[in-house]
Amino acid sequence: MTQLEPGVVYGENYLTLIQACKDGGYALPAVNVTGTNSANAVMEAAAKNKSDVIIQVSNGGAQFYAGKGLKDGFDAKVLGAISLAQHIHMLAEHYGICVVLHTDHADKKLIPWVEELLAQGQNFYEMTGKPLYTSHMVDLSAEPIDFNLSESARLLEFAAEMEMSIEIELGVTGGEEDGVGSDEIDNDKLYTQPEDCLQAFELLAPIGHFSLAASFGNVHGVYKPGNVKLRPEILKNSQELLEKKHGLDKNPYDLVFHGGSGSEKSKIEEALEYGVFKMNIDTDTQFAFANGVGEYVEANINAFQHQIDPDTGAPTKKQYDPRVWLRKGEEAMIERLDEAFKDLKSAGKTLAIPRESD
Ligand SMILES: [Zn+2]
Repeated sequence: MTQLEPGVVYGENYLTLIQACKDGGYALPAVNVTGTNSANAVMEAAAKNKSDVIIQVSNGGAQFYAGKGLKDGFDAKVLGAISLAQHIHMLAEHYGICVVLHTDHADKKLIPWVEELLAQGQNFYEMTGKPLYTSHMVDLSAEPIDFNLSESARLLEFAAEMEMSIEIELGVTGGEEDGVGSDEIDNDKLYTQPEDCLQAFELLAPIGHFSLAASFGNVHGVYKPGNVKLRPEILKNSQELLEKKHGLDKNPYDLVFHGGSGSEKSKIEEALEYGVFKMNIDTDTQFAFANGVGEYVEANINAFQHQIDPDTGAPTKKQYDPRVWLRKGEEAMIERLDEAFKDLKSAGKTLAIPRESD
């Protein structure tokens, strides 16, 4: 088995990691983070489960990372994403696992955000010899496919020079953040067409590495069950068309499963057989963090309203110290991620070379 240095992986090593996932029938959770608490919790959870992991940030998450007080929203989205990446570059190797660094959805109006991160990433690459991010998502799935692919190709050319990848999306993942409500869904759009995937491969593969978020009925967020049917066989059909057309080995696409929160376990397992190496998880880990903090606050309510407990007369500093209650959020998030590593079968499969102290 190929082993990698612990820390942020990119370029050839990223491809090695993806191949290990696909060969081993497992996937990595891609967890959205919004600050050091969630970022560190993801690395701690990965280390605890001896799994590699993907840390990703949305444009809104990046803005929050930089601080809501910064006036220029665009600058904050860029600065926050750089700041998060530097945080992970600094710490990941100390957790003894491999981390993929990724930015989440960027639709047409957010392409300038990706372009600026690529430009800033170029400075970082010249300084350190490493890209700032392993990959950026370019999500033009709401645009006509020709525009989606030509823009993706343009950005991939830039990214590939810095040993970076991109993730694209074909078909629309349903859910609140996409303006696709779970009640009235245009079903065709929720299922990616194998011919569209093939067109993407033929244009992008000669330029550089891309991963593909294909829609198979997946939805962002957690809704009442029954509205949308997950059909992982859609992924299988896309893989088989490409295998046949280009005489390639099994599962040539590197597939991404968006909207992993709340999905049926059997459908997750089936998706792993069809070349899914990355499953996005955000809603469930957000809830876990909030739930962990919420339970603690409820149990220690006096400490959140009084510096001296009115019932006992004792100082409450030990309860309201942010290191105590934020830690409860981290711990609950880690517990939810234990489940994700198990569902995705990545626990115990880190490629990272063990550190001497292990
Ligand atoms: Zn998504």
